Amino acid sequence: MAHEDDRDGVGVAVLSGADHGDPTVSERLDELLEPPGWTLEIDLDGDPTTGGQRGPLVVDAEEVVAMAYDTPTSGHDAVNVVNLRLWSARATRDFDLGTFNAGNYVEAVQQKTSSETLSKVLYPNDQTAKGQELRLKQEYFFVSASLQDIVARFLKSHDDFQLLPDKATVQLNDTHPALGVAELMHILVDHHDLPWREAWEITRRCFNYTNHTLLPEALETWPIPMLQDVLPRHLEIIFDINEAFLGTVREQFPGEEDRVQRLSLVDDAANAIRMAHLAVVGSQHVNGVAELHTKLLTRHVFPDFSELWPDKFVNVTNGVTPRRWLRQANPELSALITDYLGGDRWITRLEDLAGLEGAVDDAAFRQRFQAIKHANKQRLATLIERRAGIEVPADAMFDVHVKRLHEYKRQLLNVLHIITRYNRIRRGEADVGPRVAIFAGKAAPGYFLAKLIINLINDVARVVNNDPAVGDRLKVAFIPNYNVSAAEVIMPGAELSEQVSTAGTEASGTGNMKFALNGALTVGTLDGANIEIKEAVGDDNIFIFGLTESQAEAVRAEGYDPHKPYEENGELREVIDMIAGGYFSDGDAERYRPLMDALFPGGDRYLVLADYASYVACQETVDAAYADAPAWLRRAILNVARMGSFSSDRTVHDYATRVWHAPAVCPVQ
Ligand SMILES: *Cc1c(COP(=O)(O)O)cnc(C)c1O
Repeated sequence: MAHEDDRDGVGVAVLSGADHGDPTVSERLDELLEPPGWTLEIDLDGDPTTGGQRGPLVVDAEEVVAMAYDTPTSGHDAVNVVNLRLWSARATRDFDLGTFNAGNYVEAVQQKTSSETLSKVLYPNDQTAKGQELRLKQEYFFVSASLQDIVARFLKSHDDFQLLPDKATVQLNDTHPALGVAELMHILVDHHDLPWREAWEITRRCFNYTNHTLLPEALETWPIPMLQDVLPRHLEIIFDINEAFLGTVREQFPGEEDRVQRLSLVDDAANAIRMAHLAVVGSQHVNGVAELHTKLLTRHVFPDFSELWPDKFVNVTNGVTPRRWLRQANPELSALITDYLGGDRWITRLEDLAGLEGAVDDAAFRQRFQAIKHANKQRLATLIERRAGIEVPADAMFDVHVKRLHEYKRQLLNVLHIITRYNRIRRGEADVGPRVAIFAGKAAPGYFLAKLIINLINDVARVVNNDPAVGDRLKVAFIPNYNVSAAEVIMPGAELSEQVSTAGTEASGTGNMKFALNGALTVGTLDGANIEIKEAVGDDNIFIFGLTESQAEAVRAEGYDPHKPYEENGELREVIDMIAGGYFSDGDAERYRPLMDALFPGGDRYLVLADYASYVACQETVDAAYADAPAWLRRAILNVARMGSFSSDRTVHDYATRVWHAPAVCPVQ
């Protein structure tokens, strides 16, 4: 399965107990890996009222097994190897000979194809009934394979399930694998005959849940009739968990039926199961991924749960791996850092980058740093030329906005600013510095407005890039097929990092970290990890604009009207009228109507127009700062020097101490 970011799938970390036999690496690998072709059956639970008749998961009348694909994975310069095990859905039979013999040749292979679609693509969560059901089966497939595997491996060397939480921990990487809580209960109670209470204690100690979003519509719920149809035994288990849980709530808060309804795993009005509630109830710890996110998570997303269990909620700020995002993506800067620090220990101890503070006044270092940034810009310019067919001047500021396309990430706000620059250049204003505005990012398949924003970026690029009055003062490029390989070229070539989400919507962001680590300055809102980046790099080395989260909340509470900024700001009005009037769409005034409708009758949910003036003013500050090249260079170096705490090594250490309570097995050298 291809993942755009880190949010999908079940994250399983199996922490083995102390094992001091010192096996050889090949013995260790034998223990770790399964032979090629090794499979697990995925059980469907059958009808619980008829005594739990069990058989393999049936997809369109075909049975499915999970085949393990093992990839031994070593850390950087490590003495150990861990195994990455991925699952592929396989039909139990290649094709149905009976069907074939009966003359139904196509149908005979169709069954194999349909069961194997389960792991072919990631089913999006915004689909209609059939796609919804496939997604549920897909989630169950991965969850069941992983948990059956964990339990089977545990039983190879243990027979007391009380020890399971000490030997295995399951990290729910977002809400999508929350079914795992019910699946482990099913395995312990139905397959291994543990008493319910004992199974529940074990299950709760095995699971932890990482939440990745503050947008309520992104927290998965499943219609009860669909669960009844696909996973009847799991639905029954969820009801039993809920009954016991709500019993304790009623004891603690007698007579508070409203609170009980808010906490319930069942949304009665929607006739659906709240999977995020199952994840919270079934987990020892719940974490957010940046300080602001964790605060808002307890205050707005799970207020009743955090009142009930305040100690369950902890913060683990995200990080990025310096191996990929500095050493591999930017080998020239890596070599410079190693030269200056007199060694490459920074690769595993990123806090060593603090040793670069003194380099801001070192002429030789400054000159090399500058030359490396320029070479990386040229490399990025080549990528843009090849992928988008647009030539860009490598001496202009590279202003980069790359991330999934989403309204909350406000690529539209950036576009409004680009058009504002375009208008200022056409009016002959002098202090508009040369820029290349670079975009990349994918939209979810069913997200019409996100796709329309991509269309708008390309339309604006076409008009701006071909206007002789503009020349090299402004170029706009949308790089298609944004992925990690593209990001490895893009991050090192960036000078300005656009992190402009509406405050209170971005959980953390990690793109923000990759950019700053490669010497780009951030223009951003006080959202997600931007806040912690600002504290780390210092107020002078970051450009902050816009409403804060609490101001945004207040603006909405007062009854925000997007017409107001539109009426009050002549430049904004001009920009909006150009888009709406078809200036960028060959006179077609219909093309961008849905975008305009989201702003005006739609109420501008993400406060794009409310933040426009502040953003444009901030970009003027950015221009002035860039015009002073030596001062900009100093700020860029300080960004690199002060990003040490955003290493994923620090993040993993935080999970080990705050969530897993696991001592390090392999101390840092
Ligand atoms: C880092 C990364 C992301 C996450 O970017 P954000 O700006 O934090 O949303 C998404 N996609 C790819 C390919 C990445 O490398």
